[in-house]
Amino acid sequence: MVTREEQDLAVKILDEKTNRQLLYYLDICTRCGICKDACHQYVATGDVLYLPASRAQLIRKVFRKYFTIQGKLIPSVVEATAPNDKLLEDLYRASYACTSCRRCMYYCPFSIDTTWFTSIGRAMLVAIGRGATILGELADAAIMKGENIDMFRDILIEGLKDTEDEFKARVGDPAATIPIGKKGAHSLYVALAGTHTILPMAIIFHQAKADWSLSLFEAANYGYFYGDTARAKKIAQRFVDEAKALGVQELIISECGHAYRVMEFLYEAWAKEKLPFKIRAVVDVMHDYIKEGRIKLKPGSLLEPVTYHDPCQVGRNGGFYEEPRNIVKAVAADYREMTPNREKQWCCGGGGGLVAESEFDTLRQVSGQKKVEQIRKTGAKVLVTPCENCRLQIEMLNEKNNLGIRISSMMDLVVESMDLPGAKPA
Ligand code: SF4
Ligand code: SF4
Repeated sequence: MVTREEQDLAVKILDEKTNRQLLYYLDICTRCGICKDACHQYVATGDVLYLPASRAQLIRKVFRKYFTIQGKLIPSVVEATAPNDKLLEDLYRASYACTSCRRCMYYCPFSIDTTWFTSIGRAMLVAIGRGATILGELADAAIMKGENIDMFRDILIEGLKDTEDEFKARVGDPAATIPIGKKGAHSLYVALAGTHTILPMAIIFHQAKADWSLSLFEAANYGYFYGDTARAKKIAQRFVDEAKALGVQELIISECGHAYRVMEFLYEAWAKEKLPFKIRAVVDVMHDYIKEGRIKLKPGSLLEPVTYHDPCQVGRNGGFYEEPRNIVKAVAADYREMTPNREKQWCCGGGGGLVAESEFDTLRQVSGQKKVEQIRKTGAKVLVTPCENCRLQIEMLNEKNNLGIRISSMMDLVVESMDLPGAKPA
């Protein structure tokens, strides 16, 4: 049972997060319902809670109750509601299920950004201890790593030994190293947890003769998914501080859509500072290397039919449509476009932190059906996409729906299409 103190705290968060943009969104929705056909979750389930306008309506109800005269005087007439248990349960499902794909925003005649509402919903729930537990735990683990980096540095370096040996063998250079803590390096590369995004980029950086250093931290930001700006800022700040200490000119974010979005579009506003280096998406960096002739790919080296999935945070919300396609087309003998694509592409269903939340597994499976249909229609045998969340989700869809495709990262595709002195280990 929600207490009065919890209600007050949730309303305080809403008050703090209310700005001109939110007031505009609260005011302008005409309930035209156009967004209903845009959301993969509503289309797949027909559950009205997943209708973008309904997700916003939960916040609107609380706003009206506390911040409008009509809501205070005639709440039932204007659908004004205190954050009671039912509303908070609905808010949890509506907010944490949203993949933040912003397809609804693209189709809305007023460009209402539903993720503005769902992120406020998450923040209100976090404030009263009703946030998604697993996302909070993952965020805290990342922050703890940042606070104990001396301990984790040795573990990371030890764990990279085999990767470094393989890297030397692949590039045929016994002197090649994976640089960590390199002062004055041009770029700091922030990989994902594990070595699968370190080895291919080490090879690409080496072949491009790039001056780089590997970050001690991973790019994923569970504080952002959790809906807690303070935690999200702390997680990102780990490698911001590292980049400042090394004096790099650019921070390259690995194939992780939301991590790129956090750094390119949100961090400076959170931290109220202008970063002294550029933020780059790794797909853009690889594209530049190819364009500048710093790395060479073998045209037509990939013979199987290939398709490309636009990750929402890289495409619609990041603006990279042609760069990844140029890379895929440079090596694919048979490229097949999904329809719709680019800004209209269907979300795969795994963003927003959903791949980490088992409670949404069924929803992920059901709401990924639009993506399944799209992939099937292409007849492709390989799908390339530059986002780890999308790959995990599409791997699951592949398995559950017997799509029979191979899913590749962009960096693996690039490495497999380069002439390297050393062969890939069997
Ligand atoms: S499309 Fe926009 S205006 Fe229409 S109901 Fe959805 S959010 Fe409201
Ligand atoms: S952002 Fe995506 S998942 Fe969220 S409501 Fe809009 S279309 Fe649905």
